[in-house]
Amino acid sequence: MFEDLESKLANALKKIKGQALITEQDAQEVLKNIKFALLEADVNYKVVKGIEQELKEKLIGKEIEKNLTPFQTIIDTVHKELTQALGGESTAFIINTKPFIIMLVGIQGSGKTTTCAKLAKLLKSKGRQVLLVACDIYRPAAIKQLQTLGKQLDIPVFSKENLKPQDIAKASIEYAKTSGRDVIIIDTAGRLQIDELLMQELVIMKNTVKPNEVLLVVDSMIGQESVNIAKKFNDDVGISGLIFTKMDADARGGALLSVKRIVDKPVKFIGIGEKISDLEQFYPDRIASRILGMGDILTLIDQAKNQIDENEQKQLQRKLKKNQFTLDDFLGQLKKIQKMGSIANIIKMIPGLNKIKLSNTDDFEVEIKRITAIIQSMTKKEKENYKIIDANRKRRIAKGSGTDVQSINKLLKQFEEMNKMMKGLDKNKALNIMKNLGK
Ligand code: GDP
Repeated sequence: MFEDLESKLANALKKIKGQALITEQDAQEVLKNIKFALLEADVNYKVVKGIEQELKEKLIGKEIEKNLTPFQTIIDTVHKELTQALGGESTAFIINTKPFIIMLVGIQGSGKTTTCAKLAKLLKSKGRQVLLVACDIYRPAAIKQLQTLGKQLDIPVFSKENLKPQDIAKASIEYAKTSGRDVIIIDTAGRLQIDELLMQELVIMKNTVKPNEVLLVVDSMIGQESVNIAKKFNDDVGISGLIFTKMDADARGGALLSVKRIVDKPVKFIGIGEKISDLEQFYPDRIASRILGMGDILTLIDQAKNQIDENEQKQLQRKLKKNQFTLDDFLGQLKKIQKMGSIANIIKMIPGLNKIKLSNTDDFEVEIKRITAIIQSMTKKEKENYKIIDANRKRRIAKGSGTDVQSINKLLKQFEEMNKMMKGLDKNKALNIMKNLGK
């Protein structure tokens, strides 16, 4: 998506080190890059300006968060702001009437008919009795397409010849009531462009069937034009939400952000492929990550916030100094590392390090598993004082952990050395030992 944004930001933020607050100059530097990236992703200019202004207010003078670097603090703030700009919470809809009527509208080719079927499948999988209604009477092919899709899904498709679209829809409601269908999805007519007659027809349809939801299907690949289309449908017909299709093909997501901001209606679903199962509920935070192209860093930020407890770290350091660091503490630290995901993934997530190829990270993970098994096979006393582990105990531990005495000796030796080094607080040597452990 914004391939370069990450490295540009990382460069811009290199100099922000060891300060407590984000200065105006730092914020400007970051904003310049973000603005450029948004424009490059074809986000509407007015929308970019608005987001820039909001970000400026949020960033300048912001405290660098505990556990986070300035870079991470800024990315976290930008991500939150974009999530907000995309609607904040995820909203689909609550089906609380019977039948619940959903009308899908949109330009021809936007993926409307396909999306009707996708939505029907999704709701069916949640136990709903869906009825599809073919109201695109000007295109026999569209009716046929819906019927084929309905057959595939084993969902009935209601259609009637020689009736006006609103009358077909009206008849479908009666049919749903008598046949026990609780959700009606209406596929309406589309045109190649915005068309006054079509708008009028949709308004009549809406007034006749009084749908619970009018969802506009927008092709995310058409870029800025989507803003005009969405505005027109919303002004003339009135929509309750948006569905963006072809999000698999548009790597940038700029249209979605622009339309959401300008029309201010929730995005409910996104289409992510041609298959009937390729429809997802929309989650603003996920798309914000995608727009930033920094999903991995954001995951790391979340994990760092959750995992690293400053007090606990201080306590461990005290224990190390006093020679009270036990094998249990050691295991606790290893487990924390494991919780953060695979070592290879953690390294991939760190800007700058993600290009380095690591060959022995798998070995490191296997080693962590071995060490865990060994320590877990020790008694409480042994974990607290490894010095009591004699040859007999070693044999027992080896058996219990499925390893051998040699491995136990190796671990104890490394633990002893690590303890010594840490006590002397020689960071470099300690790091070397950690590295050797990996090897
Ligand atoms: P309609 O004219 O609006 O009813 O559009 P259709 O449902 O006929 O879809 C137009 C084209 O878009 C078809 O080739 C669909 O397979 C394709 N399409 C629809 N949704 C998606 C999507 O989410 N991703 C991709 N890649 N293609 C889609």
